[in-house]
Amino acid sequence: SFEEAYQASLAYFGGDELAARVWVNKYALKDSFGNIFEKSPADMHWRIANEVARIENKYKNPISAEEVFELLDHFKYIVPAGSPMTGIGNHHQVASLSNCFVIGLDGDADSYGAILRVDEEQVQLMKRRGGVGHDLSHLRPKGSPVNNSALTSTGLVPFMERYSNSTREVAQDGRRGALMLSVSIKHPDSEAFIDAKMTEGKITGANVSVKIDDEFMRCATEDREYVQQFPIDSATPQVTKDISARKLWEKIVHNAWKSAEPGVLFWDTIIRESIPDCYADLGFRTVSTNPCGEIPLCPYDSCRLLSINLYSYVVNPFTDKAYFNYELFRKHVALAQRIMDDIVDMELEKIDQIMAKIKTDPQSDEVKSTEYHLWEKIKRKSGMGRRTGVGITAEGDMIAAMGLRYGTQEATDFSVEVHKTLALAAYRSSVEMAKERGAFEIYDTKREENNPFINRIKEADPQLYEDMAKYGRRNIACLTIAPTGTTSLMTQTTSGIEPVFMPVYKRRRKVNPNDADVHVDFVDEVGDSFEEYIVYHRKFIEWMRINGIDTEKKYTQEELDELVAKSPYYKATANDVDWLMKVRMQGAIQKWVDHSISVTINLPNNVDEALVNRLYVEAWKSGCKGCTVYRDGSRSGVMIAVEKKK
Ligand code: UDP
Repeated sequence: SFEEAYQASLAYFGGDELAARVWVNKYALKDSFGNIFEKSPADMHWRIANEVARIENKYKNPISAEEVFELLDHFKYIVPAGSPMTGIGNHHQVASLSNCFVIGLDGDADSYGAILRVDEEQVQLMKRRGGVGHDLSHLRPKGSPVNNSALTSTGLVPFMERYSNSTREVAQDGRRGALMLSVSIKHPDSEAFIDAKMTEGKITGANVSVKIDDEFMRCATEDREYVQQFPIDSATPQVTKDISARKLWEKIVHNAWKSAEPGVLFWDTIIRESIPDCYADLGFRTVSTNPCGEIPLCPYDSCRLLSINLYSYVVNPFTDKAYFNYELFRKHVALAQRIMDDIVDMELEKIDQIMAKIKTDPQSDEVKSTEYHLWEKIKRKSGMGRRTGVGITAEGDMIAAMGLRYGTQEATDFSVEVHKTLALAAYRSSVEMAKERGAFEIYDTKREENNPFINRIKEADPQLYEDMAKYGRRNIACLTIAPTGTTSLMTQTTSGIEPVFMPVYKRRRKVNPNDADVHVDFVDEVGDSFEEYIVYHRKFIEWMRINGIDTEKKYTQEELDELVAKSPYYKATANDVDWLMKVRMQGAIQKWVDHSISVTINLPNNVDEALVNRLYVEAWKSGCKGCTVYRDGSRSGVMIAVEKKK
């Protein structure tokens, strides 16, 4: 039955083997015995559309299953992320629809009990398919006194190992759980945290990010001393430590250059811009992010993600008559926001099912209590804020289809216009829903008065702000840009706001040299024969077709290079885009995204540390909430590096 579904999906995806395989393995409805109940994505899209319609029918002006299906069909306009795609209407699994969770201290102080509880909660969430983040800044630094037989504490690193190992234990249908560990640069152990992954094979089950404040960045760039302390936010700290900010910064840069981690989170920017933090005293104080960084969260909140396929709004793509259909886009953004709000309701139902299941588990109440309480806390906060993660994918293809070159000022200006349109349409939709369905329960105009994001909305659309003040808003925060790892395989486009990785490259496949119709291009050292074939980025083929270029011909490398040079993807790929411009583009787009943006700056192997330093500093100055770099070949076992070797 795998074969049957695979063949049907292969046809659906136009022969795209990777897309078909990923779809059948990850998203087709199956039971725990491996029986597959969906033959192609169309079945899945009807499953999702029917569920959305079921929720819609509880409210005024419901949208129909047919309307929703049209938006989902062929991943053309609206694409729910992995967790909702698998989980919606799936009665074979008791799992969450959320892609992102953050957990942490819950009123209790640093203690072994709390450390173990977080460990247990992390596993329980991963078991139900969520990505998890938590912050370690509350753990006392190495050498601090503890009131037990250990006498002094071991510091952060052993706990990082614990949480990393727990992550590696939990399998999620053929994938590992994903974990983000963060710490404040103010913490006296942050240097050890930054170095922890530098030892080969250590802490492989977690992404690590440092939360960096503006004061640290000023000290680092001006070469001044910086004071670390513990507790990090206490007016009367027990421990203080004067350090050279520049030295520590150089270490961050060096490690990121060497091994792609730590990522940096510009924490003051995150907090300053965060709307949920206007409700910090009600439990919405942001403490960490989900594994890929696009959703900063408070403890026990969650978020579900969905992407809008930007390529599909370019009319006459790759021609000189190309234009962006803003009207259709606005309409679909509004619907996407609605669908996301419907998915919040579905998630609350799912949590009820999870809790009911826990109750009937053949375990003692003692064993079940942490898990049960965990979901109780998550249900409370998800229901309170009704947070959504409406995002995009295919930014790079959209830019190319418009005839623009990624990384130019012109392209960035266009992107900003698109994201501004998106933000205003999503907020308008959330306000309209507040009218029909009610605002999120703690909405308070006054509290949000000084929030820079809200003020940007107000300035761009005073009427929208006025209506928001009158009716409230349905969702505490609405927008994000996720990496769209598998989503972009389904849409067959570039991912998130990334440029195309490579428009065209050669791959080798092993062949039997005795077969009559094979052409052996290469024989390796053990004598195996290989045939070379060309892999085109899907939208690059589109560009070829539209421009009357033969897509079947076997081109030489030189000819391929010439083709790329003629296309709008020229000097606009991950490896040759102007990186500084890319960072500035991220900062400019960030102004219209209330959560964060997940981006990786891909760099060729031969760049130096000074460049990484410039990119990180520019990211801070441009208003980015975070930044990650990946230098080609800097981490073993990363697929990207393997693919590059033709
Ligand atoms: N995620 C996860 N495990 C994975 C992939 C993703 O937990 O293997 C979570 C994580 O929080 C990440 C988010 O899902 O930040 C979104 O990832 P992505 O956009 O790549 O999702 P996809 O396109 O695969 O649905």
